[in-house]
Amino acid sequence: MTFFEEQLEQGIFQICYCRKCNYTIWPPKEICHKCYSKSDWKKSTNIGKILEFSKKASMYFGLIEIDNGIRILGDISSTSTPKIGQSVRMNVSFNSKPNYSFIVENN
Ligand SMILES: [Zn+2]
Repeated sequence: MTFFEEQLEQGIFQICYCRKCNYTIWPPKEICHKCYSKSDWKKSTNIGKILEFSKKASMYFGLIEIDNGIRILGDISSTSTPKIGQSVRMNVSFNSKPNYSFIVENN
């Protein structure tokens, strides 16, 4: 398991960024592909916004943008129809693969 996956397993989303040029590296890599320096980690705020979504059975599913423009697909929990640009909180876990889900902050 990678460090990123181990952290996901603990419910922590780590953002990979370049120590030298501060570029956000997504998906995470050891070396920055802009300046070839070593990357480092910082914890995500776990706050994102909805870029787009669709309804699948009774579930919402969408594309969310979190810190530094990182885009992630996942389930969206909402008591009403989500809105584009709405603020969501991200929950992460790892069970043989990463799992991302999002909860609408306030309706
Ligand atoms: Zn760099």
